[in-house]
Amino acid sequence: MAQHFLLSAASRTLSLRSIYKSGEDAAYRTFCEMRWTETGGEAVCPRCGCTETYNITTRRKFKCKACYHQFSVTSGTIFASRKMDFVDLLAAICIIVNASKGVSMVQLSRDLDCQYKTAFVLAHKLREAMAQEVHTGEVLDGHVEIDGAYFGGHIRPENRKEDRKDRRLKEHQTGKRRVVIAMREREGRTLPFVGMSEGEGVALANENVSRLSTMSADEASHWDELHIGYHVDRVNHSEIYSDHGKHTNMVESFFSRLRNMIQGQHHGVSPHYLHQYANHSAWLEDNRRTDNGTLAQIVVSNSMASPVSRQWKGYWQRAA
Ligand SMILES: [Zn+2]
Repeated sequence: MAQHFLLSAASRTLSLRSIYKSGEDAAYRTFCEMRWTETGGEAVCPRCGCTETYNITTRRKFKCKACYHQFSVTSGTIFASRKMDFVDLLAAICIIVNASKGVSMVQLSRDLDCQYKTAFVLAHKLREAMAQEVHTGEVLDGHVEIDGAYFGGHIRPENRKEDRKDRRLKEHQTGKRRVVIAMREREGRTLPFVGMSEGEGVALANENVSRLSTMSADEASHWDELHIGYHVDRVNHSEIYSDHGKHTNMVESFFSRLRNMIQGQHHGVSPHYLHQYANHSAWLEDNRRTDNGTLAQIVVSNSMASPVSRQWKGYWQRAA
C-alpha cells in the first residue's frame, strides 16, 4: 500500500530549525520576495508604482525617488505596524500551517514567547489571509455536497436534576448557537458560511453553486427546495450513510476537522469569529495534500497581498 502523503518526506519541506538557522535577514528577504514578486524582491512604491527607491537599511524602510513616500515591506498589508521580528512571523506561520486541526492561542504564545493577545490577533490576521483563497468569488462546479452543522451556545446542565431545564426549548438557549453551512466540491474547494439556521443554505447554494452542478444533500426537508434549481442526490442518514456514490461524506469530513479544531484546540468559539475558524478549516481541508513549505509560502504571499485588516488592526487598543 502506498505511503500516506503526510507520512512522506515530501510533505516536510520547512522546519522551525531551518527558519531560525537562516535568521532574520533571510526571513526579511522572503517577505520582500513575496510582496514584490514581479521585481524579484526589489521594492516598488505602493503610492506611485515607481521602482527607484532609496534603501534605508538601518530601519528596513524604503523612500521613493519619485514621490518621496516612505514605506516598508509590510506597509499597506495585513502585517502593517508589526512589531514582531520577521523570523518570528515566519515561525508563527510555520506552526500554524503545520497544525492540521489548528493550534490554541495559549500554545502559540508559549511557542513564540509573546502575549496571548499578540498570538490571537496574529492568527486571526492569517485566517483573514487564508480566507482570500477560500472565498474567491468563483462559483462551485462539478459534484457539490451541502450540509450544515451547529456550533457554540452550549448550555451547561445544572448540578441537581430538579434544577435542570429542558435545553431544547428556545427560551432556555443562549442565542449564541450558529450553524456553519458548507458546500464542498467532490474534487476541489470547500466554501463555508455562518448562519442562524440550516435552511439558509438553499439561498447560499443558489448564489454560489453553478446550475450545471449535481448536488448531494441529506434527508433534511429544507433541502427539498434545492430540487428546483439542481439535480440533487439525496441520502437518508437514518437509513444509510453512503448509497452507491450518493453521500455527503466529503462535507462531513470538513465538519469533522472543524469540530476537532474547536473542541480540541479552541474549546469554545464566539459566534462573532466562527466564520474565521470555518475559513481556516476549509483552507486546511483544501490544502491537505500540500507540503508545509509551500503552505507557508502561500500564507506569506496571501498576507502580503491582503490589505490592512479592518477588523484586526489595533484590535486590543480600540474601545470595547
Ligand atoms: Zn512613489
